[in-house]
Amino acid sequence: MAVDLVHIVDRDLLAAINKVDQEFHKEGLIQVKSDIREGIEEEGINRVFYRLLTSNLNIVVTSDPLKWPCLNFPVLSQWASMAAGNHSNYHTLFPNDRPYKIRILTQVVDDGKYVVQIGKPMKDEEELAKVYSKVFLGSVFILLLCGIILSWIEAQKAMKGVRRVTTTARNIGQDGIDHRVELGHEGEEIEDLAETFNHMLDRIEQLMMGLKDVTNNIAHDLRTPLTRIRGLAESTLGKKDIEGYQESTGIIVEECDRLNQMINTMLEIAEVDAGLKKPEETSVDIVSLGQQAYEIFLPVAEDKGINLEFKGSSHPIIVLANTARLQRIIANLLDNAIKFTESNGIIRLEIKEAQNEAIISVKDTGIGIASKDQPRIFEKFYRVESSRSTPGHGLGLSFVKSMVLSMGGSITVDSLLSQGTTFSINIPLKSL
Ligand code: ADP
Repeated sequence: MAVDLVHIVDRDLLAAINKVDQEFHKEGLIQVKSDIREGIEEEGINRVFYRLLTSNLNIVVTSDPLKWPCLNFPVLSQWASMAAGNHSNYHTLFPNDRPYKIRILTQVVDDGKYVVQIGKPMKDEEELAKVYSKVFLGSVFILLLCGIILSWIEAQKAMKGVRRVTTTARNIGQDGIDHRVELGHEGEEIEDLAETFNHMLDRIEQLMMGLKDVTNNIAHDLRTPLTRIRGLAESTLGKKDIEGYQESTGIIVEECDRLNQMINTMLEIAEVDAGLKKPEETSVDIVSLGQQAYEIFLPVAEDKGINLEFKGSSHPIIVLANTARLQRIIANLLDNAIKFTESNGIIRLEIKEAQNEAIISVKDTGIGIASKDQPRIFEKFYRVESSRSTPGHGLGLSFVKSMVLSMGGSITVDSLLSQGTTFSINIPLKSL
């Protein structure tokens, strides 16, 4: 703005000198001299400085030098000689006796015969600049103040959300994991924080429940086999013959192995449910996996006089999964089917594809499952009353279900008592 104001003054000075030049051409020196004198009187002797010199620097008309003590006349004459050499020039003076700067233009007129110097104090322009700077600084101050107030309000709002998260965390430390952060309206980031915090709590709660589940299972379901082992050991103590000892110890070893297997399966289920260890996933052709399982189980089925069939789709069906887990799923279903089907029965393993899903189904003509038991067979340790005599610990199906869910799939059972059972598993296909 300061530069612009100087330009405005320069324009005025130039216009004034051009006017003098025109006067020279129209009216001549006498008129110019009187015009300059008039101009000085009109503007005020302090408000404008004029000097008209010949090109030899002889003064023709000048403002009263006594009224302009701040001007250095030898220097002014130097500028005049520069202008006479055709270098019109602008200068700014910073006088000691005046609070304003003075801008001076020196230029030749009347085709180089004369030199005119016009000086003007930049009083109005500097006052304007001062007013503008006051307004500018005032506005900046008000904006800054508004900015600080608004930021403070926003910060308070955000802190309210953060405080809620802190309070919830503190309450959890004191009363338990079931507290959640209430969602408010403090802005997207704070709500995101609260939601993420709540999700984290959900996950922790889920993990804790899983842990509790395992603890409960150990407390209830492992007690029976342990009591049995203890009973066996106790009765062995009363035996006199070595054969009796050997027989009992053999049974105890078997029972311990079963117990060991149960504990391992329980831990595996807990691990799969909690998603603690993500197994390595590869592209697996589920049809060839089915074929392999069929070949492994065929001799077992044949031993029991069961007709095991396999029907796989003619083309490979690729899913993104852990091969070992898929093998265990199919093996568990086939093992159950063989266990609960009488001789001459038929078991059919089928693997097909439908609507972006791979479907594994194991259909048997076995003893079937009553509809009241069907929802419960996926629970840990649940075994249908009629099947208690068959070997097993009631963990197979819950392990299968956990693994299927961890793959993003689902499992269903369809069964009629004494007619047979079909387990169907749907697994999403690998998206290419
Ligand atoms: P397990 O086979 O060790 O008893 P599972 O979890 O695999 O345990 O099965 C749970 C129960 O579901 C079995 O005890 C049985 O009663 C029932 N079940 C599972 N599969 C079949 C089947 N194919 N036919 C009839 N009953 C079945």
